[in-house]
Amino acid sequence: MALENYIRDIQDFPKPGIGFKDITPLLGNPDAVKECMQLLLNSLKDKNIDKVVGVESRGFFFATLLAYELNVGFVPVRKPNKLPYETISSSYELEYGMDTLEVHIDGIKKGDRVLIHDDVLATGGTAAAVCELVEKLGGEIVQCNFLMELSFLNGRNKISKYDIYSPLVY
Ligand code: 5GP
Repeated sequence: MALENYIRDIQDFPKPGIGFKDITPLLGNPDAVKECMQLLLNSLKDKNIDKVVGVESRGFFFATLLAYELNVGFVPVRKPNKLPYETISSSYELEYGMDTLEVHIDGIKKGDRVLIHDDVLATGGTAAAVCELVEKLGGEIVQCNFLMELSFLNGRNKISKYDIYSPLVY
């Protein structure tokens, strides 16, 4: 199955000049979802994951599916002031300004083997901030995976010390 057929290019979203990869056609097709899951799970054989961390909000879709299939817990990383319990946070630079992500302090235990999942690896700022959160809590990052990597933005450079996998690369 050609998974790229289920990714829709939207020009000028969310801002003029930006080309956005829309994953909703993929989410809407069970065969495409299964194919994606198979590829992601194949890359995780014998990795002994303890927790799957998913990034708000499009990262939640597959992160919860992966946690379910791996039979491990799911941990949400969210935008500021969304999580109700005590959190730690990490801020990172955007093209214009800063953004912050948070995780519950008890989401990850020291020594947990962690898979981080988000839908897209673009400039890598988001993924690097999530890696920082996981490591602050003592987690060991086993893999960062994505549905797709926009390789021309060189996001890999920001998380180059980790294992990275994406079924789709542009
Ligand atoms: P980065 O921090 O790597 O520049 O951006 C990655 C984050 O922005 C991810 O959380 C992802 O959801 C979102 N993102 C950036 N570009 C796209 C895109 O073209 N399509 C989708 N679906 N998300 C994107």
